[in-house]
Parts: sequence; structure tokens; C-alpha cells
Amino acid sequence: MRHRLDHMLLAVTVACMAATAAPRQARAWGEEGHKIVALIADNYLTPSAKARVDAMLASDTDNLTAHDIASEAVWADKYRDSDRDTTKERYNQTNKWHFVDTELDHPDLDAACYGHPKTAPGAPVSAGPADDCVVDKIDAFARELAAKDTPSGERLLALKFLLHFVGDLHQPLHASGNHDLGGNKVQVTEDGAKPGNLHHFWDTEFVRQLGPDPRQVADNLIADTSPAELRNWSMGTPTDWAREAFGLARDHAYGELGAPNAQGAYALGEMTYGINAEAAVELQLSRAGVRLAVVLNRALGTRKLPMPRAHR
Ligand SMILES: [Zn+2]
Repeated sequence: MRHRLDHMLLAVTVACMAATAAPRQARAWGEEGHKIVALIADNYLTPSAKARVDAMLASDTDNLTAHDIASEAVWADKYRDSDRDTTKERYNQTNKWHFVDTELDHPDLDAACYGHPKTAPGAPVSAGPADDCVVDKIDAFARELAAKDTPSGERLLALKFLLHFVGDLHQPLHASGNHDLGGNKVQVTEDGAKPGNLHHFWDTEFVRQLGPDPRQVADNLIADTSPAELRNWSMGTPTDWAREAFGLARDHAYGELGAPNAQGAYALGEMTYGINAEAAVELQLSRAGVRLAVVLNRALGTRKLPMPRAHR
């Protein structure tokens, strides 16, 4: 367990924050989670990849977010939600790209990816089929980011979607479901927190319990990452990472829920469910940050085998 003492000291603050939070159906790590992932990744970029990432983000004129790497990691959610209550064009085009809801009772990644539809030849990945999953979009945007002939505007979009989607893939309830929209339909309660749905707790509540400052949380997680973990986490593909996140959801997010009460809600035990959830969230944020760096280094850096450098 990392930083357990800090967590306990923050318990009162967290309880107050949770009481004023306004849970809504959402499908993403909250802003804090995505910022933590991007800040961890930034630490492991090679100098050449970092120079290119910084230059691309500096060229961004979009006003949905600020243009530092942490803020840009939240852009894809803001873009999706920007017409959610009006035309829904952006929402319908990109909403499904944020997850891969492999169902617990029939874990079929291909089905969760809608059969892996192809983007039309010559079309930008950002205009690809709406019915597609986060695994496919990471693979496709990474190829587009690396390709020499990608137009600069599309290359920037590829970067911004990757900054977000590698994080989403590591949220266990973005890689699983129980015919409940990744836990959005499961009502849960926890002492000191406002009742909400299970997905919201994994997106936001358990991340908040790591601390109020994404920079500080990222630095803590970087400091706790061993060279062996760096090597291990740098391996594999987005498909492997999706299966790994699914396993955490199966064993913890869903597997430790216990039995519902008479109203169908689940009480999350703070000393069992909560502790395991926090540990899983720390692990997944750390892995996501390292792997985002791997994806970006591979696409933008040298062609050598990506190997994140030790933390600063
Ligand atoms: Zn998202």
C-alpha cells in the first residue's frame, strides 16, 4: 500500500469533497486521473519525443482546454461532451472510443470492439467509425501519429486522443462491464461519500483519495515505481493492457462487491473494498503513465526499443 498515511490524513477532506460532488453518468477517469497519467508520461518521454509533443501542443489553438500536457489529457472528454446536450455530433462520433466494455459473463474483446471496423482508406482516424473501441483507437492513432504523411492538424488530434485514451484503457471499468454500462448502473455507498454509481467511484472517488494535487500524486507514483516495474509495464500491446484491466475489474471492482442490500445497492467497505480499490487505482495510473510514454516514444522518438528513463 502506497502512501497509506497520507490517505488517512486526507480522509476528512475527501469526505467533505465527496459530499459536495455532483455525480453524473460519465465514462472516464475524472480530470485528476487523466492529469496524473499525462504527468507521469511526461517524465518518461525521450528528449526527442518530448520536444515534438511540446511543439505540437504549443501549436494547438483549440479553446476547450489549456495546452499543457496535463490539461490536454482531458481534451477528449471535453470534446465529446461539448455538444452532448445539443447536436450530439461529436458525442455520437467519439463516445464509444473511450472504452472497451468486455462483458464479465462472456469476455469477448472482439465483440467489445464491434468486430474491429476499418477506417476508410485515406480517411483520417479521427473520422473513423463511431462503433469502435479504445483499443483500436489507440492502435490507429499511434500509427497516424508516427506516419510521415499525416497532416499536422490530424497529427495533433491523434496526440490529443492518445493522451486521453491510454488513460481510459487503464480504468478497470472502461475495460469491463456486467451489462451495466461499465458499472454506471450499479449503485454503491461508502461511508463518508455521497452515494453514486460504481463507475463514478472508480473514475473519481478513489483517485481523489490519493491526494488533491495531480502533480504531487504523479511525483509520488513515479518515486514508487521500480526499474523492474518500468521494464514490465513497457511491454505488451493495448489488447494486453485491456485484458489486464479487465482482470482487475473482474477480481476487484466487481469481484469484491459482495451482496446488494434490499434496494439493490452495494455498500463498499472502506477497509477492504476501498483499500484494494485505491491500490488498484494507483497501479493503473502508474502503468498508464509509463505506457503512454512508451506509445509516444515509439511514435515520435527514435526507432530504438522504447525504454523509459529512470525518474528525475
Ligand atoms: Zn474518456
